[in-house]
Amino acid sequence: MHQPAIPHLAAADPDVAALVEGEARRQYEKVRLIASENYVSAAVLEATGTVLTNKYSEGYAGKRYYEGQLYVDQVEALAIARAKDLFGVEHANVQPYSGSPANLAIYLALVNPGDKVMGMALPAGGHLTHGWGVSATGKWFDAVQYGVRKDTGRVDLDEVRELALAERPKLIFCGGTAIPRTIDFAGFAEIAREVDAVLVADIAHIAGLVAGGAHPSPVGHAQIISTTTHKTLRGPRGAMLMSDAQYAKPLDKAVFPGLQGGPHNHTTAAIAVALGEAAQPGFRDYAAAIVANARALAEALVERGFDLVSGGTDNHLILVDLGNKAVAGKPAARALDRAGIELNYNSVPFDPRKPFDPSGIRLGTAAITTRGLGVDQMPRLAEWIDRAIAAGDEAETDAIAAEVRELLAGYPMPGWS
Ligand SMILES: *Cc1c(COP(=O)(O)O)cnc(C)c1O
Repeated sequence: MHQPAIPHLAAADPDVAALVEGEARRQYEKVRLIASENYVSAAVLEATGTVLTNKYSEGYAGKRYYEGQLYVDQVEALAIARAKDLFGVEHANVQPYSGSPANLAIYLALVNPGDKVMGMALPAGGHLTHGWGVSATGKWFDAVQYGVRKDTGRVDLDEVRELALAERPKLIFCGGTAIPRTIDFAGFAEIAREVDAVLVADIAHIAGLVAGGAHPSPVGHAQIISTTTHKTLRGPRGAMLMSDAQYAKPLDKAVFPGLQGGPHNHTTAAIAVALGEAAQPGFRDYAAAIVANARALAEALVERGFDLVSGGTDNHLILVDLGNKAVAGKPAARALDRAGIELNYNSVPFDPRKPFDPSGIRLGTAAITTRGLGVDQMPRLAEWIDRAIAAGDEAETDAIAAEVRELLAGYPMPGWS
């Protein structure tokens, strides 16, 4: 049964309840290595399921367009205060519905359609919303894109500087979705200063590491910081924009009324809870353990002959180029899923294959670290990954899945028992 239980849902709508139960069991039985996912605490789950979902509150605390904001104002003020404390920023907006709309709000606040912007290309590890062609940000703005060096798999700041000097973008994004290495915020800030651009650090993936002291902070380097709240930060699905005081007004106006209507107050409450958890001393241990697990897993994979983009990892994320293996990313991800190991196929830099059938797989250690797995389990995990990818038949992958279930039975899942 769920903890907290879902007795009302089970009675009122057994169909939906059964699907939720099924998903909970699936999350319990799998080694979840999707780098953008986590397990939130029971407290965060409870906050998302409260009566705050009943309330409309367009506007900001003290300046709302609806009555009855006595408690909602305090919930949002608490989330903002905790965000400012935790990250050490002058301003925070906790209303963006998710990371993509948060990023769109930055464009709306600072540039006009057709203006030049710069971000990391999607196939190199950037995010769609950093100006990739199929995204509104690539269609409505004149986006130039930097990548990584072929020989190192890493961003080369000299190349970024050269491109920035030639193109003079108004906005520069750093950060991304498949970057296994530390982001040099100071280096990007220097380039942004040289070309008079505003630097945005999108720390969606690494926010928990930044909060927990396991990755350098962009504060003092990037004028604007964008983050989701549901990846390493281990909160509900949502996002925050943080900035120097100077950008507070334009960012707030871009989120509401520029892009959004009423904020999701139940999510805001859960963000406040997650930020409270991230401020506890134990969260620093969690962030350090995420990185230690990723390093140990990377080493074990390298020992088994896997080719890692950039050769390893500094954070929670590992990008494997399967070019030297007999199998591509998609069939590997499928075999691994059957073996109880959940991850996603992913393009690697300079991928000769198509995005929908790429050469790589992406792994992250945020969720398994929450579950309680440690560095001692990482060689075993690498062995399973190796065996599942090499497996010729389903009997072998099913056998691995049974071993996975047996191991995970010793590690409770928050919100489910
Ligand atoms: C996940 C992510 C986003 C988008 O978040 P959504 O909540 O999925 O819209 C934006 N930027 C980066 C770098 C991300 O990793």
